[in-house]
Amino acid sequence: ESDRARDRGIAYYKSSRDSYSAERLTLVSDLRSAIENHELTLFLQPKLCLKSHRITGFEALIRWPRRQQPVRPDEIISIAEQTGLIKPLTRWVLQEALELRTRLMKQGREANVAVNISPNNLREPDFALFVQRLMQSYPAHAGGITFEVTETSMMQDPGNSLRALNALHAAGIPLSIDDFGSGYSSLSYIKRLPAGEIKIDRSLVTDLPEREQDRVIVRTTIEMCHSLGYTVVAEGVEDQQTLALLESMGCDLIQGYYLTPPLAFTAMMQWLDEHYPACRARAAIDNAPG
Ligand code: C2E
Ligand code: MG
Ligand code: MG
Ligand code: MG
Repeated sequence: ESDRARDRGIAYYKSSRDSYSAERLTLVSDLRSAIENHELTLFLQPKLCLKSHRITGFEALIRWPRRQQPVRPDEIISIAEQTGLIKPLTRWVLQEALELRTRLMKQGREANVAVNISPNNLREPDFALFVQRLMQSYPAHAGGITFEVTETSMMQDPGNSLRALNALHAAGIPLSIDDFGSGYSSLSYIKRLPAGEIKIDRSLVTDLPEREQDRVIVRTTIEMCHSLGYTVVAEGVEDQQTLALLESMGCDLIQGYYLTPPLAFTAMMQWLDEHYPACRARAAIDNAPG
């Protein structure tokens, strides 16, 4: 229940508006040592496939307990981007995501793990090379680690982002466009990206049962994305009614509090055992025709 409270943003630390305040400087140096000392953790949130009714993947989301003052993920990332700490942070996230996928596989759970990548990472000259080497040393994870990149973030530097994403695609990394429909993006740009998945932004999903306009937007977005060959994920699904609507619209996957908020690895294993036991999934495969 405390994970849930934390995820709903109840106990989060709020930073001062002044970016040079003593408080802020402490936060930056604390973050630096938290990365070095591996005090950050990744929580997992499942992606449910509406066709197979199976959990086919997880999104890895950063958490920083920071004694009694947890810091919100978007704030961690914003500080990391402003200070250059995003480079070591993302490298740690990637290695940890590979560790988590190893642990999932040991539990008989072959599932994709998605990590969020900052546009700053795409500007590091050696990022694709780093990823390529890392993936080569974990051959069992080929294609099993997806990168999520938000559409708006790439528009700051479209040319370099495209180049970097093509290099990552060549290294075997599937790409997902995050927060689709939330900002100013250009479809003519997005269609050039080597992406296989689109995630419809939570802001369009949250009020689906109440808002006819949102239903029109989401339905046509799903149709358009399918025609262009993308898999479609809806994020921020909080109730059964929204799930049913998305299912009727042909949405492929859903993520959201209705299933579960992001959980630490062990809590996620308990949740899976309770709601999606591995043996049942395996039985479904064994009993499949042909
Ligand atoms: P995102 O990638 O769009 O992640 C989805 C966010 O929605 C997560 O917030 C998740 O906890 C929250 N969420 C999931 N289901 C629901 C729901 O049903 N209702 C509501 N209201 N919220 C839901 P979180 O974990 O606070 O992360 C916020 C953002 O911070 C992420 O948005 C992502 O952009 C960024 N972020 C998180 N971890 C990382 C990371 O390791 N690296 C980078 N670069 N960014 C990260
Ligand atoms: Mg994401
Ligand atoms: Mg998102
Ligand atoms: Mg988001």
